[in-house]
Amino acid sequence: MKQLFINGQFTDASGGRAFSVLNPATEESIAEVAEADARDVERAVLGARKAVDEGKWASMGPSERSRLMFKAADLMEQKLDEFIQLETSNTGKTLIESKIELSLAVEVLRYYAGWASKHAGETLPSGPKAFLFTLKEPVGVVAAITPWNFPLLLAMWKVAPALATGNAIVHKPASLTPLTALRFAEVVVAAGFPEGVFNVVPGPGATVGAALVTHPGVDKVAFTGDTSTGREIMRSAADGLKKISLELGGKSPNIVFADADLDAAGRGALNAIFYNKGEVCAAGSRLLVEESVQDELVGRVAERAKKTAVGDPLDKNTRMGPVISKTQLQKVLSYIEAGKGEGARLAVGGDRPAHLSKGYFVNPTVFTGVRSSMKIAREEIFGPVLSILSFKDPADAMAKANETMYGLAAAVWTRDLKKAHRVARALKAGTVWINTYNLYDVALPFGGYKQSGFGRELGREALDLYTQTKSVWVDLS
Ligand code: NAD
Repeated sequence: MKQLFINGQFTDASGGRAFSVLNPATEESIAEVAEADARDVERAVLGARKAVDEGKWASMGPSERSRLMFKAADLMEQKLDEFIQLETSNTGKTLIESKIELSLAVEVLRYYAGWASKHAGETLPSGPKAFLFTLKEPVGVVAAITPWNFPLLLAMWKVAPALATGNAIVHKPASLTPLTALRFAEVVVAAGFPEGVFNVVPGPGATVGAALVTHPGVDKVAFTGDTSTGREIMRSAADGLKKISLELGGKSPNIVFADADLDAAGRGALNAIFYNKGEVCAAGSRLLVEESVQDELVGRVAERAKKTAVGDPLDKNTRMGPVISKTQLQKVLSYIEAGKGEGARLAVGGDRPAHLSKGYFVNPTVFTGVRSSMKIAREEIFGPVLSILSFKDPADAMAKANETMYGLAAAVWTRDLKKAHRVARALKAGTVWINTYNLYDVALPFGGYKQSGFGRELGREALDLYTQTKSVWVDLS
């Protein structure tokens, strides 16, 4: 039984309840995890409050915080293979996808460890009668609530800047994927962080998540997940006027002009939608292709998609594993039916691999002849389903690209530098890739326009989510 991690201790759940965590490739249980409830949230928030208000953590200098974070990064790196096995068994992502996720998590920890001693207030110009300066102070107790697609990486996007700036964190991982967060809690202990600084309370969103969002001891909620959940969190956080940042869904356009390197664009389009089985918030799920090269590009994409090795994610030759759960599989299959029903043409996939009798597998799926009004062009599927639309000219491409409530990411493929820049500016999206897709840098902010959320994670900007500015006026008259 994996226990909760509260106030520096692994502990049983107050209600004595537990839930099973499955391997989506085998449909078998790989762990029993203690299920937190509101009483455990209470314990965790109190511990975190104490850490941030009066404990050792509160009086620690930035260099010492930095040292602990670097140590945690080193310890995690030493156990990286264990983390990789755990993440792959729990999420169905391939070993290489887990390696990328977890190596990035270590990098995020190191990047913000460096910021701990550099994020500073400023001295403002003033006359001889005053001395004006600002202090950057921690927000306090942060609730970090995350989804199942990049379990530890998306937690680290929140935990690392929050630690660097002196906050305490109560982390609620997605119930489907709590294992790497609990393993990271062991790293936190081994690195020597004071008690209460980091807590993990796995359990359902409706109880544990909701209790965190409304708890008066929580100062900030950092959330990644579905847009509808984001709306609910915003409503519940309103009474306590909590600070919130929301990283939500997407339906990102990937635009290929006729003058692009079509070989690179074809490979990029596959990576954009099939990486991590399409369970990527920024997935390039709408491929917009200029009419004159549509047949050629569709041919390239379809040919490669058909060859994708779908299977056991622990096998080194596998390129795509199962989707995360039975519910998600059914959701993906129902979108495929909707696409067929609305008249889109199925170019590849649309079914489940015949050679796999167990696991939530679905073949890479490509629809052509998709129109913007179709469900598969409007709604986030969060699975390996690509919708291909065509456009006539740049204006048509822009209109179609921006015709969505989302605005998380977008890409443009062209050899024309001016066109690339013009399109990048016209796209209503938080991230725009030019002649590439799905690349992330720890220094480059990430977040959404429109209903893909607000607040920027990563980079220097994320530090602002976890600090507040105190202005100090010293009278010298
Ligand atoms: P989800 O919204 O169902 O759950 C996310 C987390 O919120 C889970 O931990 C869940 O238990 C919790 N939760 C659910 N209801 C809650 C409530 N009422 N109060 C508090 N917490 C609650 O999302 P999911 O299905 O786990 O993840 C998939 C979604 O995440 C997709 O829509 C995807 O686009 C989005 N996502 C966005 C980004 C981004 O950076 N923008 C990154 C990854 C995933």
